[in-house]
Amino acid sequence: MKERKYSAETLCAQAGYDPKNKEPRITPIVQSTTYNYDTSEDLARVFSLSEGGYMYSRLGNPTVAVLEEKIAALEGGVKGVATSSGMAASFFSVINITRAGQNIIATSNVYGGTMTLFTFELKNMGIEVRFVSERASKEEILASCDENTRLIFAESLSNPSLDVLDFEEFAGAAKEAKIPLIVDNTFPSPFLCRPLDHGANIVVHSTSKYIDGHGSCIGGMIIDGGNFDWKSSGKFPELTEPDESYHGVVYADSFGKAAYGAKCQAGLLRNFGSTMSPFNAFLTNIGTETLHLRMERHSNNALKVAEYLENHTKVDWVNYPKLKSSKYYDLANKYLPKGAAGVVSFGVKGGADLAKKFLDNLGGFITIATHVGDLKTMALHPASTTHSQLSEEEMKAGNVLPNLVRLNIGIENVDDIISELERAFEGI
Ligand SMILES: *Cc1c(COP(=O)(O)O)cnc(C)c1O
Repeated sequence: MKERKYSAETLCAQAGYDPKNKEPRITPIVQSTTYNYDTSEDLARVFSLSEGGYMYSRLGNPTVAVLEEKIAALEGGVKGVATSSGMAASFFSVINITRAGQNIIATSNVYGGTMTLFTFELKNMGIEVRFVSERASKEEILASCDENTRLIFAESLSNPSLDVLDFEEFAGAAKEAKIPLIVDNTFPSPFLCRPLDHGANIVVHSTSKYIDGHGSCIGGMIIDGGNFDWKSSGKFPELTEPDESYHGVVYADSFGKAAYGAKCQAGLLRNFGSTMSPFNAFLTNIGTETLHLRMERHSNNALKVAEYLENHTKVDWVNYPKLKSSKYYDLANKYLPKGAAGVVSFGVKGGADLAKKFLDNLGGFITIATHVGDLKTMALHPASTTHSQLSEEEMKAGNVLPNLVRLNIGIENVDDIISELERAFEGI
């Protein structure tokens, strides 16, 4: 699979595993912590990173590697590093190249978990996070950077506000500041958007969402785009100077374009753990085999549901980037040409109580759950659940209005989804 360039659909079904004569056709689960070597010298070469191979599954495992290779191929990057969760991927993506006393730029619409990580944990570690608006211009972003700024972090399609990233502004600013742009691409998945094509340098995923797609495994992934020149930037000694914690390896010399990914694996996975298990990699990889089919169906169903809601007399407003009424319509057509995935939010006319009543009326196959990216349709009232700890002002600042209902539109028949919704509306 390595030499030829295949389309995304083929990569979803095939990439990462290339069985040899008499080997199993389906990716085997290598449920082993340990690997055998004939001589100490053989193992020593693997340990010194001068030769590829597995030594201990905290740092790498053949089943996990299949998933890493597939997502890297889908994103067009040079190396994938799987983690135990999306949160671990976001955390590692930052601390791989940022130390105490330095700062990073992030958009203020990042996922709630990421926001907490950035505003509390990173701060406690001595890393300052400077927030900019997701609508900031290149100049505004650059105005927040100084000589200690190490990276810019943003979401391609934000969770849950569904803002579409203006790559031109953010990648332009990163390039000018000679720092990488890291993009959380969880919501579009690599099938609907490839951030590296639009100037991003590192991509992170929560594979727990669409990439798995079946709601079975928590997981994360970091993709090194191989398109950032660490040496000429001059700001990243952890990649361009000897790593004392790993007998003096210089990642940019030993691993070239994959320096960032190699450090993530040999340094962070080794020292922090947060490794993906082989079984989770196996299940997640089965998810990826239908990613292209699911993303198409999620996107088509969600657009139809959004249009239905927009014409409904009991609906106040609808947020979906592919609606002509969305302020992100043009950016969505530019960066999400194949679709905008399955999350739709809307306001129920009459306020929070009626929004809750709407959910209680559902009763059919649409269940109440916090998850998104799952192939089953689910609904949530954030103001009384996930966001209930926030004050009314904080909710407003985060665009979580009291009457907001979030739908995770699944891959069922869209007429069935709409008639379930209609039944719930009839009761309010
Ligand atoms: C869910 C999510 C995460 C966190 O991922 P987990 O796998 O739940 O740890 C990060 N970013 C985005 C955009 C998410 O939706």
